[in-house]
Amino acid sequence: MKALEVEHLSFNYEENSPIIRDLSFALNQGESLTIVGKNGSGKSTLAKILVGLLPFKSGKIKINEQEVDPKKDLASTYHLAIVFQNPDNQFIASSVEDDIAFGLENYCVEPSKMHDLVIKYAKMVGMENYLDRAPENLSGGQKQRVAIAGVLALNANIIIFDEATSMLDPEGKKDFQQTLQSLKKENPHLTIITITHEKEEVTLSDKILVLHEGQAALFIASQDLDKYKKEYASFGLELPFNYALVEELNQNGFQINYCDDYEEIIRQL
Ligand code: ADP
Repeated sequence: MKALEVEHLSFNYEENSPIIRDLSFALNQGESLTIVGKNGSGKSTLAKILVGLLPFKSGKIKINEQEVDPKKDLASTYHLAIVFQNPDNQFIASSVEDDIAFGLENYCVEPSKMHDLVIKYAKMVGMENYLDRAPENLSGGQKQRVAIAGVLALNANIIIFDEATSMLDPEGKKDFQQTLQSLKKENPHLTIITITHEKEEVTLSDKILVLHEGQAALFIASQDLDKYKKEYASFGLELPFNYALVEELNQNGFQINYCDDYEEIIRQL
């Protein structure tokens, strides 16, 4: 079953200056997607359209094969959730516990089960010892972890992470990837969309969408990135280290087959 279908979507903030232009792509349930593109290519605008913060006028969006009514709040109607780059914009409650619980209240979870669920999601992001803290007294990375736990607790079908790890240190970024893996195991139908500038994160998803001037410049399976690396780089994007390394070596007379495994590249040398 398709989780998300975007068909001929166009959007502009101001007359005659299109930001999203005739964009089409689709994802199956359980698939993950990384959206990349230079600054200003329309990534955040697309994320905001998908969660219903910006009403679209032209094109179609289907979620779980149902056409979305742009006048409705997509996020609550279609179980879509988003974590933004700046966690300060997404706190509602005065303690970490209440903040994570907020989404659960909206879904009418029984109060007796609430605390255990809050602890479950707080543990997933390593924040179980901060439940009575006020969110404003946390570091940027800790705030982002709480925001992620709050979104996980919403039990959404589609979660969009809009540069959500940019505040996290390398350890936090690694933990975040592990959290995503365990989430996917727990809920194989969950569709995850990650917008990122981290070149090494690109191939962690099943699919890659390159946005360029609001258009789908490339929409490929991430395992095919090797085949499309020239095009990928032509949109001003840096390739993950292993791809760049193999490319550079081959340009210098070696004949190395691309491989995810760094050790294997060394063995071929
Ligand atoms: P990205 O996330 O890829 O950096 P954005 O979606 O933030 O790109 O922005 C795409 C374009 O839309 C940019 O040219 C930006 O200046 C413009 N833009 C973003 N938000 C607004 C707004 N609220 N009003 C007018 N133009 C905007």
